Amino acid sequence: MRDYMAKSWTGPIVDNHFHLNRNGRFLDAAADFSRVGGTGLVLVHCPNFASPPNGFEAHRESYLDTISMAESVQGKFGLEMRVVLGPHPAAFAHELEKALHSQDGEAQEYAISNYWDSIEAALELVKQGRANAIGEVGRPHWKVSDEVWDLSNQLLKKTMKIANENNVSLQLHVEGESDETYPELALFADQVGLDRSKLIRHYAPANVSDKNTHGIIPSVLCGKGSVEEIITSHDSNSTGFFMETDYMDDLKRPGAVLGPKTVPKRVKQLFEMGISEEILYSSHQDLLVKAYGQPLEF
Ligand SMILES: [Zn+2]
Repeated sequence: MRDYMAKSWTGPIVDNHFHLNRNGRFLDAAADFSRVGGTGLVLVHCPNFASPPNGFEAHRESYLDTISMAESVQGKFGLEMRVVLGPHPAAFAHELEKALHSQDGEAQEYAISNYWDSIEAALELVKQGRANAIGEVGRPHWKVSDEVWDLSNQLLKKTMKIANENNVSLQLHVEGESDETYPELALFADQVGLDRSKLIRHYAPANVSDKNTHGIIPSVLCGKGSVEEIITSHDSNSTGFFMETDYMDDLKRPGAVLGPKTVPKRVKQLFEMGISEEILYSSHQDLLVKAYGQPLEF
């Protein structure tokens, strides 16, 4: 008798938000991803949180190291690599918060100019074709004073304006579950003339329906239960969606985040649960090209 078991997914599988750390598992983590069917990574720059860079040159140098890690992964495993560079809010917003609370005008000015140095260094590398987008940028995902919140929003909005002027996508790292988040980000984009689909919300909840996402591209964190929610909401999604782990590659916090094999596992589950090939190809191939351009060549 023939076995009518569903065939398994052998198409593209991309993790849209992945970090690597030379002091972490680095190539071993990429090997894990590749071994279980992963075909491409969006490698997102992760700053040294203990001492974030100061000034344009220092930012540029730390970005170049992320690019060089992408090159190593591509060379070793043949994965399609795209790189996203920018001032991580967990580093930058703390700097801003500290400066604002210190009431020291110079420190405030410095924090802001350091933010723009970081954006400019990222933008330059994107324009040179050495990186694909700016991120993760956003606003604090912890409780802050109104002053810090307002300034963070101003900087974010201006960053969106720059993204629009340069036709670059942004990966956003914003606060968690709030009904206000998507509509507010969409409003910011509209106010500066940025196409909403240029915004990619990292760490997004798994409800991908347009009604929820307001035209912003969700990058779904692929934890437990995410596939069921994608299955029930994707029919009412018209923008496409990404999938991610936010793998941190931090040996001190194993198990704190999803492991490198998670997205391949979830994609295969989605396929087995009946999601169409067309949708998987569009989110793991076509949408990537639209959001980030072609994978990097080194
Ligand atoms: Zn991240």
